Amino acid sequence: MPEWPPVDHDTLLTDAREYARTVDVDVALDDLSWEVSTRAKRRAGACLYHRASGDVTIRLAWRAAERFDWNEFAAVVRHELIHAWEYQQFGEAGHGPRFKREADRLDVATTCPTFSVPRLRLYCTNTGCDWSADRHRASEVVREPEHRRCGRCGSRYEVEHVESGECWRTSAGYRGARERIEEW
Ligand SMILES: [Zn+2]
Ligand SMILES: [Zn+2]
Repeated sequence: MPEWPPVDHDTLLTDAREYARTVDVDVALDDLSWEVSTRAKRRAGACLYHRASGDVTIRLAWRAAERFDWNEFAAVVRHELIHAWEYQQFGEAGHGPRFKREADRLDVATTCPTFSVPRLRLYCTNTGCDWSADRHRASEVVREPEHRRCGRCGSRYEVEHVESGECWRTSAGYRGARERIEEW
C-alpha cells in the first residue's frame, strides 16, 4: 500500500501504475496511458478510447485521490483496468455481462465509480489565506456571507456552488445564483 493520499500528480500516477501491475487482468500495460484530471467533480475514474489509433488512457480524478482511502481508490483503478482490457481486446467497453464477470472476479462495482463532492464550498477572499470549508445546506453562512468572516484571518469569504461553479459574496448574490442554478 502506497503512502496515501499522494503528494502530487506524478506520485498518484506512479502509485496507480504500480498497483495495476499487481491486478490480475489481461491488460497490455505498456500500451496504456495514464493521466490525472483536476477538473473532474463526479467521476473518480474514466477510461478513454481513441478509436483511430487504438490508444487507451485511464484518467484518474485528483479530488477522488484526496477523498478516497487507498482501498477505495484501488477499486477505481481495477474498475478502469477492466474497461481498458475491454477496449484493447474488443474495441468497446461497457457494464454488460462481460464487464460484470471481471468485476465480480476483481471485487469492483459495476457502475462507474463516483465520489461525492460537497454542494457548497467557502473560500477566503484574502489571497494570502488558504482557508476553505465545505457545506451541504443553505444555512445562514451560505445565504448571508456578508455577515460572517473567514474562520482563520477574518477576511470576507466567497461561497461557491460546486456543481455549477456559481459564486457569491452577498445575500443578493446568493439569491441571483439560486435563480440561475437549475439543479441545487
Ligand atoms: Zn465503468
Ligand atoms: Zn482567510
